[in-house]
Amino acid sequence: MTPIQALQQYFGYNQFRHSQEAIIDHVLNKQDTMVLMPTGGGKSLCYQLPAVLMQGLTIVISPLIALMKDQVDSLNLTGIPAAFLNSSQSPDEQKNIAIRLKNNELRLLYVAPERLFGADNRMMVFLKTLNVVQIAIDEAHCISQWGHDFRPEYLMLAGLKSEFPGVPVIALTATADKLTQKDILEKLNLHKPAVFISSFNRENITYRVHPKKNSFSQLLSFLEAKKGDSGIIYCLSRKSTEALADDLKDAGYAAAAYHAGLTNDVKARNQEAFLKDEIKIIVATIAFGMGINKSNVRYVVHMDLPKNIEGYYQETGRAGRDGLASNALLLYSPGDAIKLRSFATVENNKEQSAIMLKKLDDMVNYCQLHACRRQFLMHYFDEQFPDNCGSCDFCLSEFTKFDGTLIAQKALSAVTRLKERFGANYLIDFLRGSRSEKIWAEHKSLKTYGAGADISKADWQRYLRELISQGFLRVSEDGYSAMQLTPKSEAVLKGDLKVELIASQVTDEQEHEELNYEAELLADLRHKRQEIAIGENLPPYIILSDTTLLELATYL
Ligand code: ADP
Ligand code: MG
Ligand code: ZN
Repeated sequence: MTPIQALQQYFGYNQFRHSQEAIIDHVLNKQDTMVLMPTGGGKSLCYQLPAVLMQGLTIVISPLIALMKDQVDSLNLTGIPAAFLNSSQSPDEQKNIAIRLKNNELRLLYVAPERLFGADNRMMVFLKTLNVVQIAIDEAHCISQWGHDFRPEYLMLAGLKSEFPGVPVIALTATADKLTQKDILEKLNLHKPAVFISSFNRENITYRVHPKKNSFSQLLSFLEAKKGDSGIIYCLSRKSTEALADDLKDAGYAAAAYHAGLTNDVKARNQEAFLKDEIKIIVATIAFGMGINKSNVRYVVHMDLPKNIEGYYQETGRAGRDGLASNALLLYSPGDAIKLRSFATVENNKEQSAIMLKKLDDMVNYCQLHACRRQFLMHYFDEQFPDNCGSCDFCLSEFTKFDGTLIAQKALSAVTRLKERFGANYLIDFLRGSRSEKIWAEHKSLKTYGAGADISKADWQRYLRELISQGFLRVSEDGYSAMQLTPKSEAVLKGDLKVELIASQVTDEQEHEELNYEAELLADLRHKRQEIAIGENLPPYIILSDTTLLELATYL
């Protein structure tokens, strides 16, 4: 029987998903393999199908007794003889399974790691008398301290390769970053393992980021065309989830709030109503979502800036599990970034603060992106992706564009004046007519010096990035990153070619807001002398910059 025949006959599926087929080929060739595939991707099949085809026993290591029973039951239903061994069984039951094993009647045996290497060596000695042809290690990240679910008993699995030399080991997990992956391979002593990483791309989700102006009316116009659909709306603070849920109810939507501060009763009731489609919209803090498997969530909205890309991606990933087209909308305001930056300062832990700030910067860069958002997300997770996904606001050309020919000409002629010798920051200082001594002294007599003083530094950075991506400028590769002209530049300088640029996403008003934010926050604190509305998992002891802390200390 071939793998595809077995797939159809035993599992009732027509085709393989992700890289299932290549993985199965590897295992059938007796090679060690590691599989990274998102939850629900179909990892079990990668060892269950070889177990059907190989003449012998497959041992499956799994951390949860409850999961074992489910898997074994459904295998037996499809006619694949399987069993599990654990402490919940009576001695008679266990003996019965041992007999079936001896008679080579079973194809799969599920065990917990501590059972395999129990106090005495009996289990191992017994298993070694059998014809073991494959060992599968499910939830393999449990072996790594770097993973998020370390289980010390998994460390015992390091001995498996030497106990069963020549038997292929397949390790499977849905969550492992680079560090955890390396750790798994080393701890299991896998022999020349092939690593299969499936894409984490969610094709059916369209990503959009809009500048936050009047958030409630922006939300209403977004919801206009989605009246009957289910959605999740995330807010940073508990208070705003309740206020927004009320506003939505007033506007005629079946909405409810969800956050960690509600009683268990209310939380359970709201969650239940959402799952049953009695409530269409859940307005929640990030406390909502873990373990909730609702397949027909059509949209996820972030009213406030998420703290990092991991969280954002996980939250938006709750949309469209049924594979149908779904939307992710984020309302971005620079003021939110300032607020979060101040929260991200963890007392007495410089290293952790630095990591949180770095992750926040990545999140802000994503919001201010003038390029394919999906490509950015995939690169963030170390996946290659082409630069046009066709389903994000950038690729759908939803950004407002304007005739930027004059701006481009200013930039290009400044590059010429600077003899293509300087990097972007220097160029911007030149364009803005910086009074910094060095630049001023050297260039003040040039005609174009200060020709772009009316454009903010941040906007110049965005425009230069766009000119580069449109091929009107390039960055030298000699290590100096100097801005240089390209073959396309001349036509722009001569006025033969028009250049379109993307309008700034940030209004003047917001830039102003950004500057005033810390001052306002401080005033507010003085007034209230109480905890600020913060996100669910932000510890209450993180506050602002050093000077602000000093200020605060005098008030508390
Ligand atoms: P994971 O362990 O990766 O989270 P599972 O192995 O539990 O995922 O599989 C998730 C679901 O996908 C199961 O219902 C499984 O039967 C189904 N499935 C697996 N492979 C295929 C396939 N090739 N075609 C269709 N459905 C599949
Ligand atoms: Mg699984
Ligand atoms: Zn895109």
